[in-house]
Amino acid sequence: MKTKTDKKIYLDYAGTTPVDKEVLREMLPYFNKKFGNASSIHSFGQEAIAAIDKAREKIAKLFNCDFSEIIFTGSATESNNLMIKGLVKSQISNLKSQKFHIISTKTEHESVLEPLKELERAGHKVTYLPVDKDGLIKISDLEKNIKDNTILISIIYANNEIGTIQPIKEIGKLLEKINKKRQENGLSKIYFHTDTVQALNYLECRPDWLKVDLLTFSGHKIYGPKGIGGLYVRKGTPLSAIISGGSQEFGLRSGTENVPYIAGMAKAVELAFKNREKHSKYILDLRNKLWENIIKYNKDIKLNGSFGSRLPNNLNMRFAGLSNETLIIALDQAGIAVSAGSACSSRALAASHVLKAIGLTSKQMKESIRITLGKNTTKEEIKRAAEIINKTVKQFIN
Ligand code: PLP
Repeated sequence: MKTKTDKKIYLDYAGTTPVDKEVLREMLPYFNKKFGNASSIHSFGQEAIAAIDKAREKIAKLFNCDFSEIIFTGSATESNNLMIKGLVKSQISNLKSQKFHIISTKTEHESVLEPLKELERAGHKVTYLPVDKDGLIKISDLEKNIKDNTILISIIYANNEIGTIQPIKEIGKLLEKINKKRQENGLSKIYFHTDTVQALNYLECRPDWLKVDLLTFSGHKIYGPKGIGGLYVRKGTPLSAIISGGSQEFGLRSGTENVPYIAGMAKAVELAFKNREKHSKYILDLRNKLWENIIKYNKDIKLNGSFGSRLPNNLNMRFAGLSNETLIIALDQAGIAVSAGSACSSRALAASHVLKAIGLTSKQMKESIRITLGKNTTKEEIKRAAEIINKTVKQFIN
């Protein structure tokens, strides 16, 4: 018989989160009772479109934006592809130019980096801003790199591996000034995008507050379902569809709408906004306790990234001389699920471009693990996790 202490401890909330009970309740009727296709004229279809409208309205209200500025996609990966490829596609015909410049960072998620690489292969130029050892870009670097043909700046709000929070609002303010000048000089506007997939649970993410034109979010990092994402698109932002078909989502994302997932994600966004402060405080306190309990017994441990400008739920650390693969497997066997922060779809541990960007050697990268807490993490779990981590590490390092 399993005792309470045998229960597995999940500390990989940046990887994914369990669906919240309230979210699930919101979703369930749309699988079989209200199962209509939103494109159908009959009452079943009307029920489906009403649910999508309600979800869009809910998110628009929370984001303080217009109903038509919220686009539902199949994932944040798709949102990032849409905003990058869709903007470039649109500007190629609007500005009658074939070659553009984009600014991003070395620590973006792969769903931004890979579409950018595709654009480079097609002849566009991309500047990947470096980061310091804390994972932060320099705003002066960004300003220096702006060119006449820059059309997009895309910067992740909070990093998925090391939790570093970039100064998005400050950049937004600066870009407002820069765009004013560009307009006077007859240059095209630079659009500003941020990926809030990891940030939405913990940080203020209203697009008008951040002064962004495009903003990506995902269902499954905020206690919603997997396989659903969203993109905020400020009115007037040029964007062409990259998936064509039945012209759903204001023509920007064809495909029959996933009604239960849309309803679920809207509920998850609502709960994230409602509980942000409470959960942030609670999780930060637990995270700091865990860190204190680990460093007390491990002299050779180092935190990767910044302590100050970091998401409250994130710890990314390295134990000198201990491979992360060995440690992750040993911890899993001892009942704790943690991550390396970066993995290929093959589940093999990939060398992390983020850890490389903050200056880690390949040996240090292979010694790094990511621990991420969530709203369901308990004080008891953290106490037990610290004991297990310290005991497990001691088996390998003495
Ligand atoms: N952006 C960031 C920062 C992420 O952490 C992730 C997922 O790990 C994504 C984008 C992709 O999200 P999705 O799984 O919805 O495609």
